[in-house]
Amino acid sequence: MIVAIDGPSGSGKSSVARAIAQRCGLTFLDTGAMYRSVAAECLREGIDPDDAEAVSGVARDIDIRFGTSREGQTVFANGRDVTREIRTPEVELAVSPVSATPAVREVMVALQRKVGEGTDVVAEGRDIGTVVYPKADVKVFLTASPEARARRRAVQREGG
Ligand code: C5P
Repeated sequence: MIVAIDGPSGSGKSSVARAIAQRCGLTFLDTGAMYRSVAAECLREGIDPDDAEAVSGVARDIDIRFGTSREGQTVFANGRDVTREIRTPEVELAVSPVSATPAVREVMVALQRKVGEGTDVVAEGRDIGTVVYPKADVKVFLTASPEARARRRAVQREGG
């Protein structure tokens, strides 16, 4: 079973996906965290996020794993706990060019499909219902008013 949630930033995709995962006993696949992990690894290795070739190399080699702790989901990149690091302003900036790199998207989409083959997942983010899981059992396009989206983005930036 695959539930794919798409929609503009600040529409609440992540909160809804987490809630569905918890209620329905599905695995929440945080695709944003995957792109953020690639960005964090690039920064750690001193790679310019705009250097498409180097960034693609990082994406091809990266080992991303999710775990759980008392505070929620944890993320490991190449064996390193990057749960907090991927939410820093530096990564927030770097993730944009990183996720726009075609080879990075290719690698991440393949990983996401692989997870979806063996596990019941709820996933959210750009391309999820169209490119990653075009045959998802449930597809949601979540919207919210411009005011609600702006408010949510402000809270996210403050780490709320
Ligand atoms: O959802 P989150 O804010 O963690 O996503 C971080 C960034 O990763 C997004 O701003 C976007 O650039 C990228 N992303 C993406 N495709 C996805 C999920 C996230 O390009 N499916």
